[in-house]
Amino acid sequence: MQMSTDFLLIGQGICGTWLSYYLQRAGYSFLIIDEPQKSSASKVAAGIVNPVTGRRIVKTWMIDEVMPFIANAYNDFGNEFGIEAISKKDIVDFFPSAQMRLAFLDRYSEDHSYLSLPNDEQKWRDQFNYELGFGMIQPTWLVNLQEILPVYRKHLAANNFLVEDRFELQQLQLKANHIQYRELKASQIIFCDGIASASNPFFTKLPFAPNKGEVLWIEMADFPKENIFKNGINLVPWKDDIYWVGSSYEWEFENDLPTEGFRDRISATLKRWLKPSFKILDHQASVRPATLERRPFVGFHPVHESVGIFNGMGTKGCSLAPWLANGFVNHIKTKSRIQPEVDIKRFTRILSKQ
Ligand SMILES: Cc1cc2nc3c(=O)[nH]c(=O)nc-3n(C[C@H](O)[C@H](O)[C@H](O)COP(=O)(O)OP(=O)(O)OC[C@H]3O[C@@H](n4cnc5c(N)ncnc54)[C@H](O)[C@@H]3O)c2cc1C
Repeated sequence: MQMSTDFLLIGQGICGTWLSYYLQRAGYSFLIIDEPQKSSASKVAAGIVNPVTGRRIVKTWMIDEVMPFIANAYNDFGNEFGIEAISKKDIVDFFPSAQMRLAFLDRYSEDHSYLSLPNDEQKWRDQFNYELGFGMIQPTWLVNLQEILPVYRKHLAANNFLVEDRFELQQLQLKANHIQYRELKASQIIFCDGIASASNPFFTKLPFAPNKGEVLWIEMADFPKENIFKNGINLVPWKDDIYWVGSSYEWEFENDLPTEGFRDRISATLKRWLKPSFKILDHQASVRPATLERRPFVGFHPVHESVGIFNGMGTKGCSLAPWLANGFVNHIKTKSRIQPEVDIKRFTRILSKQ
């Protein structure tokens, strides 16, 4: 039986979630095909929206615009689905070295936005071993991915917007003004399939730079839950007495599996840093769909206009996905410009080569 829809989306990570959310709000129909994977990037991510980045602690790209937008977007989402989708968890940034302390103080003296210094440097002596003090990064938001993804998936399934299956590219046919996938006819297909897009023949020429990250989940009783704590690695309150600890950033790796080396190294770091004892509950790894120039890939293929991509969020999926999804849907609806730094039209020449 032939079915038809406006958009076929591949993948329900944070990208497929937000893109379909805004498509639905704009009145479009869609179907998502997603093959559940335990360790997709969105399932392994902490959910941090950090307004500053890098060794020089500079502002994250577009953050002044993105931060207020996403606070509203996640709150609306949470109200609609009955969850707390986002919460404020400012980062307590313990300085891991004298250079990092200096970098923070230098940056703070140039620009106070998102940074502050504590009144009481002794505040965390009962919980942590630290020598060089700490600064605060605020506001920092924590996105509740562990509830957002399943609650939205339930909504998709209840409305027949989801097929839990592996998408097979060989079954895709491009027709003059639409695409055909098995019995489904759609005006356009948009790939939101994370790192899988890096080996999709339509998009292999895009400069993806896959980046592996490993994470531990630990359990600790009676430990503070109001902040994210940072000391080279992040310690993030997850739920109940469970904390997310990570992560690594590896540009070269053999596979996407957790390694003993990471577990041993982080476990030793935690033993030095934390005063209470902890128990390791889980250990996972995933690959971030990062890009060489650290900007996402959004838009329709310059040659195959019925094929689109919403991807390349790198380390910033939680903040960039809602903001860029809204912009992408506006583009679809009104032909408004996609943010030029992320529009895949910037790769028209290489994408047009046979
Ligand atoms: C360790 C780690 C920590 C991170 N921490 C943060 C953080 O704190 N804050 C932040 O903003 N970002 C963080 N990130 C980055 C963030 O995870 C990514 O930017 C984001 O999750 C990418 O989302 P996505 O939807 O593009 O991809 P994914 O989450 O990978 O989703 C892709 C989906 O497509 C499905 N799929 C793939 N191929 C197929 C197929 N053939 N058929 C059907 N379905 C398919 C997959 O199963 C998956 O559900 C972190 C990443 C890692 C690895």
